[in-house]
Amino acid sequence: MKELTEVLKDWEAIIGLEIHCELTTMETKMFCSCPVQFGDEPNTHTCPVCLGLPGALPVPNESAIESIVLAGLATNCDIEKESMFYRKGYFYPDMAKNFQTTQGPVAFCMRGHLDLDVPAKAAAERVDVEKDDDGGYTAHVGIVRIHMEEDAGKMVHLGGSSGRISGAEHSLVDYNRAGTPLIELVTKPDLRTPEEARLFMQKLRQIYLAIGISDCSMEEGSLRCDSNVSLRRRGDTEFGTKTELKNMNSYKSLHDGLAYEICRQAEILEEGGTVRQETRHWEPAAKRTIVMRTKETEDDYRMFPDPDLAPFSLTDEWIEGVRAKLPELPDAKRERYIQNFSLPKADADEIAGEPELAETFERSADGQSSDVAKKIANLLLNDLLAYEKDHECKICDTKLDSASLATLATHLAGDDISAQQGREVFEAMLDSGVDPDVYIKEHDMEQSVDTAEIEALVDEIMAANPDKVEQYKGGKTGLQGFFMGQVMQKMAGKGNPKVISQIVTEKLES
Ligand code: ADP
Ligand code: ZN
Ligand code: MG
Repeated sequence: MKELTEVLKDWEAIIGLEIHCELTTMETKMFCSCPVQFGDEPNTHTCPVCLGLPGALPVPNESAIESIVLAGLATNCDIEKESMFYRKGYFYPDMAKNFQTTQGPVAFCMRGHLDLDVPAKAAAERVDVEKDDDGGYTAHVGIVRIHMEEDAGKMVHLGGSSGRISGAEHSLVDYNRAGTPLIELVTKPDLRTPEEARLFMQKLRQIYLAIGISDCSMEEGSLRCDSNVSLRRRGDTEFGTKTELKNMNSYKSLHDGLAYEICRQAEILEEGGTVRQETRHWEPAAKRTIVMRTKETEDDYRMFPDPDLAPFSLTDEWIEGVRAKLPELPDAKRERYIQNFSLPKADADEIAGEPELAETFERSADGQSSDVAKKIANLLLNDLLAYEKDHECKICDTKLDSASLATLATHLAGDDISAQQGREVFEAMLDSGVDPDVYIKEHDMEQSVDTAEIEALVDEIMAANPDKVEQYKGGKTGLQGFFMGQVMQKMAGKGNPKVISQIVTEKLES
C-alpha cells in the first residue's frame, strides 16, 4: 500500500465523526433514580425502569438535559426548544427494553460548529489549503446535531481467550450501565485528514471536560468515536462510498485507523474496484482494519415518539439559565494566558485544555510576572506530567501547593538555582509537600549573589590572563565564556550565572 501523504496528493479524504459521550458526572441515570456508578457488583444499580419491566414509567433527568444544552452552547449549536424522545426498536441482550430511548429528527442541539486550530506539526497531511505564517491553518467543522440517548448494559463473554463474543462459551450481562445518559455528536463530513479528526476529538474532549459533563475517559469508554471515511479524486465534487470505523478508543487509534483506511480505499479504487459500504474494526497491533459487518440496506428501527415521555418545550428563561452556567472555555483561556503571561501558544493550549492543570496554573501564576509564569508552565508541563506518568498518579494525589510552586518558579526565574536543582526541589515538593525555601537551604543549593566576592574573583582571573583580556578587547568576545567558566569553577558551581555574566562583561568592557 502507498503512504498516506502519497495517497493524499491524488485523493481527497472525506471524514465525519460520530462521538458518544457518557455523562459520567450525573448522579442518576437518564430515566430513573438508579445511581450512575461504575465498578460495583454487577446488577446492583437497577430498577424496573432501566430493566424495562412492563408498566414502569420513565422520568427524564433534568440535569442531564442541562448538560446536553451546555454541550450545545459550547459548540455553537442552536438549541431546539421543541423536541421529543423516540423509541428506536431493536433487540440486543444488553438492552432489556428491546428499544433504545433516543431523539428523533429534532435533537436538543442542532447546526453547530467548531473551528480547529491546526498547528504546523499537524498540517502536513492537508495539501489543498494555504498555510499561515506559523505553518498551520484553521479548519471549520460543522456539527449536524447533538442528541440525547441512553447507554446499554455491558456484556461479559466468558470461556474464550479474547473476552470477545467469538469463541466464548457463555455470556453474562450487567445492567448497571443500562440507562446511563449518553449524548451523541455528529459532525458534517467536513474533516479532511486524520490529524484534523484527532484534533477535533481532542478539542471536543477539552470542551466537555471544561463544562464538567463527563470524565471523558477514552480508555474506559466514556468518550467513544466512530469515524466515517470516503475518498474522492481531487477536483471531484461527489462523495464516494464510505466505510465506518468503530469504537476508536485513543487519539492514536483514531488517527492511525483512518490513515490505514484511506490507503486501503485508495488501493481498491486505483485498481478499478469499488469500496463496499461496511463497518470495520481497527486492530492496532496488526495495523489493519477488518470487516465487522456489511451494510446493504438501510436499517429499519421503526422509530416512533415514545408515548411514555411528553414532548419538551424549553423556555428561553431556562435556556438562558443554562447559558449563565457556561464556564470560560479552553479557547478563551488559552488567549488569556497568551495575553497575560506571554506563554507560548502550544503551552497555553495544553494547560488551558486540562481543567486541573489550568486551575493549578492559575492559582500559582496569579499576580506573578510573565517570567515566573513561564517557569510555572514549564514545571507543570514537563516535570509534573513526567512525575504523574512515573508514579501513575494525578495532580490531585500529589502534594502540590500552588504558593510553593510559585516560590520555586521565582527562584528559577531569578537563576538562584539551576534547572537541574529545580527539578530536584520540585520532585521533593510532589513527594512530601516540602517548602522549597527550606529544601534549598537544607541542601545548600543557594547560589551566591555576593557581588563583591564575584568582582574580586573576576579581577584576579583577569590579572592572571592578560593575553586573553587583550584578545577580548581586540574583538574575540567569545572569550567571555572562558572568564565565566573560570569564575564558576572557583565558586564550585554556587555562583549565580546571571550575575557573574553581568559582572564579567562589565569588567571586560571597561
Ligand atoms: P448513515 O446514514 O450511514 O448513518 P449519516 O448521514 O447519518 O450516515 O452520517 C453519519 C456520519 O458519516 C456523519 O458524521 C457524516 O458526516 C459522515 N458521512 C456521511 N457521508 C459521508 C461520506 N460520503 N464520506 C465520509 N463521511 C460521511
Ligand atoms: Zn433504574
Ligand atoms: Mg446515521
